Amino acid sequence: MLITCPYCGPRDLSEFTYQGDGNRTRPAPASQDLDAWNAYVYDRLNPAGDHNEIWQHSGGCRSHLRVVRNTLTHEISSVGFVRGDAHARKPGARK
Ligand SMILES: [Zn+2]
Repeated sequence: MLITCPYCGPRDLSEFTYQGDGNRTRPAPASQDLDAWNAYVYDRLNPAGDHNEIWQHSGGCRSHLRVVRNTLTHEISSVGFVRGDAHARKPGARK
């Protein structure tokens, strides 16, 4: 399986580390809602079809990527940086 890193280009799966389900929302750190924390830590979707996942290009640029992968065919329909374009130079930024 190849994942196309937006920064590095197509790379083998062995260069990436799965970081988890991209659909989860972490409760507020001070939250004492145990049901919400229990759901965040333990509940996982197991969809048959497109799944939103977080991967890190750990053997390359180390960027965290949001990947939409079909769990039945392993076809990847979308790859992007988790926090926008992390490598884009901001206007006026130093080299
Ligand atoms: Zn990369």
